[in-house]
Amino acid sequence: MTRSSELFAAARRYIPGGVNSPVRAFRGVGGEPFFVERASGARIWDADGRELIDFVGTWGPAILGHAPRVVLDAINATAQRGVSFGAPHALEVEMARTICEWVPSIEKVRMVNSGTEATMSCVRLARGFTGRGKIVKFTGCYHGHVDSLLVKAGSGALTHGHPDSAGVPTELAALTITLPFNDADALRAVFAEQGKEIAAVIVEAVPANAGLYFPEPGFYELLWKLCAEHESLVIFDEVMTGFRLARGGYQQIIGMKPDLTALGKVIGGGLPVGAFGGRREIMDMLSPDGPVYQAGTLSGNPLALAAGLAQLNELERVDGWAKLEALGAEFEVRVRAGLKRAGRDYNFRRIGSMFCLYFTNGPVRNLAEAFASDKAAFAKFFHACLERGVYFAPSQFEAGFLSLAHTAEDLAKVADIAADVLSKI
Ligand SMILES: *Cc1c(COP(=O)(O)O)cnc(C)c1O
Repeated sequence: MTRSSELFAAARRYIPGGVNSPVRAFRGVGGEPFFVERASGARIWDADGRELIDFVGTWGPAILGHAPRVVLDAINATAQRGVSFGAPHALEVEMARTICEWVPSIEKVRMVNSGTEATMSCVRLARGFTGRGKIVKFTGCYHGHVDSLLVKAGSGALTHGHPDSAGVPTELAALTITLPFNDADALRAVFAEQGKEIAAVIVEAVPANAGLYFPEPGFYELLWKLCAEHESLVIFDEVMTGFRLARGGYQQIIGMKPDLTALGKVIGGGLPVGAFGGRREIMDMLSPDGPVYQAGTLSGNPLALAAGLAQLNELERVDGWAKLEALGAEFEVRVRAGLKRAGRDYNFRRIGSMFCLYFTNGPVRNLAEAFASDKAAFAKFFHACLERGVYFAPSQFEAGFLSLAHTAEDLAKVADIAADVLSKI
């Protein structure tokens, strides 16, 4: 028996499913998860001493790789002065100023402890600001485990085959309208019928919790226009894309300004952090200035902000986004060559340091098309890669992540392994 399976057996006695977040349980691919002993750079070592090249990157935050020196030093130095204050401190000002300067749509920002808290707060704030109840979201978009947003959500929920969670009252779910992504007609129709009741449309900047697909030309322009016409807000969920795709997030790349933005993952340098911000007049609705309540004992935690700032400043110092794009482009070339060698015309998607290999050759523009992928073949691919020391996310419906710690040699080796595995399944 391996150390990992011993630990997993013990974990299942005390933790539901043996994990603290469902997708970690490997249900999407079968088998048991490995337990991590340590992680450094682009690598993870499991409890049985196996070394893995990691493309999960703790699900997005580890953009510099695991345990980068700058982040460790920042945490250490900050911890000497105390690990939590519950009172204002200077790092909060520095983080808020950085976010507002880097992300042009954000005039004011508040720190929270997770992406879920960020989207939850955006929804409450949008409802408070507009005085309306309804929210529009897109099928396959995951915005954290917020009651109102756990309707036709992606990733973990998809993998486990129940898109809607038990425990979300139908009365509440009824306020959430779900539409297929990239469906302009459906969006127009819902605004024509219910526009005056819609507080906000929430969308993943680049949907990456059902694999990875992109907005079609004109789709976001239409979304912005309809929201403006009906005085509904645009909530851009950049928890995954923020500070990963560009300094100012995906919104910088497309040159569009949402009313509210949710952030998380990269912003915390691996510690539990989220943030949400946007137009000043909306943000000023928050307590204590305004009537929308929102709070947090550990919000703005000094260790988390020190880690996050260290990571963001390092990304800027080394021009990390350009480097990641170059790495991503090189990886893409190698993967495409590998697919050709293996005789597969599977659909490989990439933007910057995010990627997904759909086990289908059809187009993927929305959840329904993502579902066309061969999940059984993916599961075989996943396990065969893991056996050869490559750790991709244990679900067809997750994006993969490159970090600045991945080297060109790592990527060449991994593309070869993937091609070899694909030619045998
Ligand atoms: C991960 C994620 C969230 C939730 O963040 P947590 O920190 O897990 O609560 C929300 N939105 C998107 C797009 C995400 O990828």
